[in-house]
Amino acid sequence: MIYQRHIPREELLSAQLELLMQHGRVATISANLVGVIAVIGLFWPFSYLPYLLLWGAAVLIMLLLRSLFMSNALVERSFNSSPKAVYWQLVIGSALTGLVWSSAYVYSALNLPVTIQYVMLLLIVLITAISLAVTVTIREHFLAYLFTALWPIAWWSLVHYRDEPYNLTIGLVLLVVCALLMMVSNWIYRSFRNMIALNWEREAMSRELGDLTNSLRDRNRQLQDARRQLTDLANIDELTGLGNRRLVNKVLQEEINRARRAGSELSLILIDVDYFKNYNDSLGHSAGDTVLQELSDLMQRATSRAGEVVARYGGEEFIIISPNSSPAAAMRTASRLQSLVLDERIPHPNSEVSDYITISQGVVTVTPDGELQPGELINRADEALYEAKGAGRNTISVG
Ligand code: GH3
Ligand code: MG
Ligand code: MG
Repeated sequence: MIYQRHIPREELLSAQLELLMQHGRVATISANLVGVIAVIGLFWPFSYLPYLLLWGAAVLIMLLLRSLFMSNALVERSFNSSPKAVYWQLVIGSALTGLVWSSAYVYSALNLPVTIQYVMLLLIVLITAISLAVTVTIREHFLAYLFTALWPIAWWSLVHYRDEPYNLTIGLVLLVVCALLMMVSNWIYRSFRNMIALNWEREAMSRELGDLTNSLRDRNRQLQDARRQLTDLANIDELTGLGNRRLVNKVLQEEINRARRAGSELSLILIDVDYFKNYNDSLGHSAGDTVLQELSDLMQRATSRAGEVVARYGGEEFIIISPNSSPAAAMRTASRLQSLVLDERIPHPNSEVSDYITISQGVVTVTPDGELQPGELINRADEALYEAKGAGRNTISVG
């Protein structure tokens, strides 16, 4: 994945536009609105009322349209889809508003008493200052205002320096004010832009970090799955799909510990196929493998208690670990298995006890004390199994 660490120009512009409209909309519109009301109040005694009201209505409509345009752009997020268009419309709106004020000032200078002219000037400077504070995120927006409001007034005053003694001072002061405002606006604008860019970069980095964390988490999960699969494979006998000796050792140790803590019984059944060497010798090793698979299915059917584990202990020897199982319960399981094997009637051409496959079983039940080791328990089951073999095979012996 390629990460971009610098904000693209278009995105920067969109962010600036959004900021301007969010923070500047209400403030600029209200400042201009107050200005319009003030002008109507000031001009009232000296002007032809219908014209004055017509002017007020026209400016109010323009302010309303500007406000609607900004709300619309914010709702539709058009500053993202077509930032250039929004930019130009905002700049033009700002210039039009500026022109309203410069022309109002010129009108006051030509037709109204000088005090009203000065109040007008003060008003315009105030509105300009407010605009600077809230709309400078787009520098051109503010400059458009400055160059259509204060700048023409400055030049008009300089040109008309003979009409009024203070016009020259006003013109010069306004030129200086314009220059200062340009510098300040430039400075604030740069700070805003850097702030937006920094914010964007911080977000990009945290996104990047999030992606990396996610991919690391995925990797970790894959590794855990693979490890689990490997562990499972290491514990499973390939031929029968049962647990192998490794699993027996693990489970037995756990069950001994559990039974010791709970003070409960634990039974073990060790199973060996009778005369299996002869079977292989008569029918072949792969036929013997099939029998081992069939027997493992029967063992799973014979076990029904919760927590019981059937495993292939090695060769043709199997084991059933039966937690919480009394000698009687273990005996029932062993008998059930014996019946299932006999019922299956798997022909054995060379057995000395039957025409079919039979098994011998050694059963042992313990309530583990502090000393008991898994090996000891298996030895005791093995001894019982040996007894079963000695007793003629196809039998169950309890140790
Ligand atoms: P008994 O147990 O009744 O005393 O006689 P047995 O002939 O079964 O004697 P033992 O248990 O010692 O025989 C083990 C035989 O099991 C030897 C080997 O041929 C066979 N065996 C062990 N593992 C496998 C296996 O994976 N597949 C097959 N087909 N045979 C196996
Ligand atoms: Mg054996
Ligand atoms: Mg055997």
